[in-house]
Amino acid sequence: MSEGYIKYNTICIGNEYPEAINIVDLQVLRNELKIKNLIGMLPGGIGYGNVSKRWNNKFIVSGSQTGGEAILSCSDYSIIHDYDILQNTLVYSGLRLPSSETITHLAIYAAKPKTKFVAHLHNKAIWEKLIKDGAKTNGFSEYGTVEIALEAKDYVSGLSDDEGIFALSGHEDGVIAFSDELKSIIILINKHIK
Ligand SMILES: [Zn+2]
Repeated sequence: MSEGYIKYNTICIGNEYPEAINIVDLQVLRNELKIKNLIGMLPGGIGYGNVSKRWNNKFIVSGSQTGGEAILSCSDYSIIHDYDILQNTLVYSGLRLPSSETITHLAIYAAKPKTKFVAHLHNKAIWEKLIKDGAKTNGFSEYGTVEIALEAKDYVSGLSDDEGIFALSGHEDGVIAFSDELKSIIILINKHIK
């Protein structure tokens, strides 16, 4: 399945992107995923994988088509100021369009008020194992749609834990991890890598 094309509607309210001090933790998370190719670039040059954090009643998310870059700079992240999941609409500021899967991240923050970090990674072995174990969304909607965001929201709403990892059934190799803590999201992801 193709990846990375923007399907949502965006309203850009300015160029403001996060300061370095506000993305230190996000950079640690992203680097962890990047060195393991859980974030990267497909042969066709399409980037995959993205990270976000809850920040001051807003959200910081990595930009669209940044998967191939070794290290991101502040301006590769956008700030999400407001959103409407059902309308698939984001209000953001920054120099980059937010990741094409931002709506799915936001659906998880909405369902899990304690969640501070969300990561979307790609890995066939992890995805297949999660599907086999039943840690997966119901339904087979495509990436970047309202439907897949709602499927993810439904799945995490049923979890009692403050952290989790699951497969997006309709998005081959696509996995979502979330946690209220940087350390625990990294441990959780590493636990699933053979
Ligand atoms: Zn994806």
